[in-house]
Amino acid sequence: MMNKFFSNIKEMFGTDIAMDLGTANTLVYIPSKGVFLNEPSIVAINTDGGKVQAVGLEAKKMFGRTHGKVKAVRPLKDGVIADFDTTNKMIAYFIEKSLSKFRFVNPRMVVGIPTCITQVEQKAVVEAALNAKVREVHLIQEPMAAAIGAGIPVHKPEGNMVIDVGGGTTDVAVTSLSCIAYGESIRVGGDEMNEAIVRHMRLKHHLHIGIFEGERTKIKIGSAFPVNGNHSVQVRGLNVRTGVPQSLAVTEDEIRMAMKEPVTAIVEVVMRALEKTSPELCADIHTNGIYLTGGGALIRGLDKLIEEQTGLKVYVPTDPLLSVVKGAAAVLKDFENMKEMCVN
Ligand code: ADP
Ligand code: MG
Repeated sequence: MMNKFFSNIKEMFGTDIAMDLGTANTLVYIPSKGVFLNEPSIVAINTDGGKVQAVGLEAKKMFGRTHGKVKAVRPLKDGVIADFDTTNKMIAYFIEKSLSKFRFVNPRMVVGIPTCITQVEQKAVVEAALNAKVREVHLIQEPMAAAIGAGIPVHKPEGNMVIDVGGGTTDVAVTSLSCIAYGESIRVGGDEMNEAIVRHMRLKHHLHIGIFEGERTKIKIGSAFPVNGNHSVQVRGLNVRTGVPQSLAVTEDEIRMAMKEPVTAIVEVVMRALEKTSPELCADIHTNGIYLTGGGALIRGLDKLIEEQTGLKVYVPTDPLLSVVKGAAAVLKDFENMKEMCVN
């Protein structure tokens, strides 16, 4: 009770916040509360006049179920801020939701941003946060934040590799001396795997399934490498030939084949990064192994597949979905020493 009282008082004098602005999920970390918000990066908009109907979890419920007047969009999908106005509203909503209404000092904020966003888009993120009454906004590239969050000593003069597999993008980065010595981002991530499963079900079984059913199937039995035996799961959709809803059993092996293309693209970007990294940093990575973060790190056997292809050890930190927000929070906590890792 007393603790809560003091934490409320502390908040009134300014709570700094860390945000992971992901293509699939936005997370907010508040020092006194930990991970305070974890919601899909989705906005439901009224097509008449563009009013925002819902953001986050509420908006996700509407996805695919909207009538003509409401559309649900993912403004950061593919790692690009496609729609400034919607992104602004989403950021403002998440900040408002995370901060105490009664505060005397506006917060400082560290935000993890996708690597491939342009300078103009970076400015838009900063402006959205400033509009939401944030005092200072510092941006950090997501793979750098992911590396810090995964516990990599990024400040040391040694090479470390992190692969962050998100919804819309996969980032590979080699860090050394607080910088990204080599980085590459591709627009392939968990979403492409969901889409690949949807396509497979339609082509192979004439079953039309929704994108969330595709994602559910991926999370249940999706894999990149045979690790678990060959379980099966029921997939529900609409049979396009009969026009009748149908439930069908699919096996782990079948779904692994269906997901092969995006998974291969991820492995290829890792191989390319190793090729383009200097021999000294490569030698370090050989010693230190590779860190796999983001929701995609939870794909069964993705670590094993990368190990098999590279011959290097692959580590998945606990809670890989939290790596970026944890990294941004670490920068916030030790801001004076770590601010050089931010891009602004
Ligand atoms: P982003 O940083 O782009 O917002 P996240 O790191 O939050 O993305 O990861 C989201 C992706 O991770 C989604 O494609 C989601 O389907 C996938 N994902 C989440 N949990 C799991 C799981 N248990 N198994 C496989 N994929 C998962
Ligand atoms: Mg991310």
